[in-house]
Amino acid sequence: MKSISSVYKIGNGPSSSHTVGPFHAAQTFGSRYPDADAYRVTLYGSLAFTGEGHGTGKAIREGLPGAEVIFDPDETDLPHPNTMRFQAYKGGKEIASLRIFSIGGGSIRIENEYSEEDKEVYPQKNFSEILELCNQEKISLLQLIYILEGAPLREYLRKVWRAMQDSVERGLATEGILPGGLNLTRKAKYLYEKRCYNESSDVAMNRVIAAYAYAVSEENAAENVVVTAPTCGSCGVLPSILYYMHHDRGFPEEDILDALAVAGLLGNVIRTNASISGAECGCQAEIGSACSMAAGAVASLFGLSIDQIEYAAEIAMEHNLGLTCDPVNGLVQIPCIERNAVAAMRALSAVNLSRFLYATRKISFDEVVATMYRTGLDLNEKYRETSHGGLAQIYKEYSSQERKTD
Ligand code: SF4
Repeated sequence: MKSISSVYKIGNGPSSSHTVGPFHAAQTFGSRYPDADAYRVTLYGSLAFTGEGHGTGKAIREGLPGAEVIFDPDETDLPHPNTMRFQAYKGGKEIASLRIFSIGGGSIRIENEYSEEDKEVYPQKNFSEILELCNQEKISLLQLIYILEGAPLREYLRKVWRAMQDSVERGLATEGILPGGLNLTRKAKYLYEKRCYNESSDVAMNRVIAAYAYAVSEENAAENVVVTAPTCGSCGVLPSILYYMHHDRGFPEEDILDALAVAGLLGNVIRTNASISGAECGCQAEIGSACSMAAGAVASLFGLSIDQIEYAAEIAMEHNLGLTCDPVNGLVQIPCIERNAVAAMRALSAVNLSRFLYATRKISFDEVVATMYRTGLDLNEKYRETSHGGLAQIYKEYSSQERKTD
């Protein structure tokens, strides 16, 4: 398996391949040629066809300020459907030119270059092998992670955590209508401030965590910077719980970074053995994975055993099996934003069950991951990010009726 760091990508929403990957590519190119006085970026293939609507131009300009962005839908001889050409100029002369491909999940590949991201870091293929080694060597998941990944992972996770917190805070501070035409109002701030009279601590906790999840997911829908965890569509689940644990419950930052590492390992297992793509396996691959990662993170934060961490992650995935991807109008808004909040609360319930029942479990994490993948491949294409079925379809059919609420 590859490094955990490739699970968490920092970039602009709402789509990992159309915004996070291009943002990453722009930053990479800019850091190689910081002395250039002008940059040009040409987008081809799918990025040229749908990039304007998906905010690819904005993502490039944020990663490479001042860049001129050109959409070229006519070029068909492309090595990858998401191809970009980056050019740097100095004094009017071209000093560098690179083709970079956005290959999915926010990952990029530079033409003719080996990427550090491709390096295999974990000899283990799945969670059972990880568990076996940890038991054999009497080490924790965290110890295994840092033996294999070393200090650079820690520093990267610190950056990831900063970006996650920023997305919660920006989302909480912003009101108004989200872009895209659905006329959806942002709700994070309202939810955060709307205390009930005599609110119990449980209700308050759920409301506040949900507000954090809305905050991040609304930032994603507004094409602002988020962290894939493991995708843009599911980017609110993990940060919402960890933000609550740090800011409302007082868990120290170092513990939060540990929890992020454990969640990343689980995401890595899912990505390697199944899929984290809604287009490939439906929303169970996005929100199911995020819920599973969040449950494992919290179980680890609470100091539960490896078995309890595994069981929490397994429960969280199992009860998202079959979850379809049917975003209304193709926007990452309905059902996505609300779904992030619901998944965050579900992750906490999974931890509570695992705490007491782990010794009686029958299904392993690897088994539920394999089930998710197989179920995903069986899902009708209508429910795999095409907006041709489910809520997307019903919404269209009912769209002639007046909608007073959203
Ligand atoms: S419904 Fe589809 S687009 Fe929305 S979060 Fe789930 S997988 Fe992503």
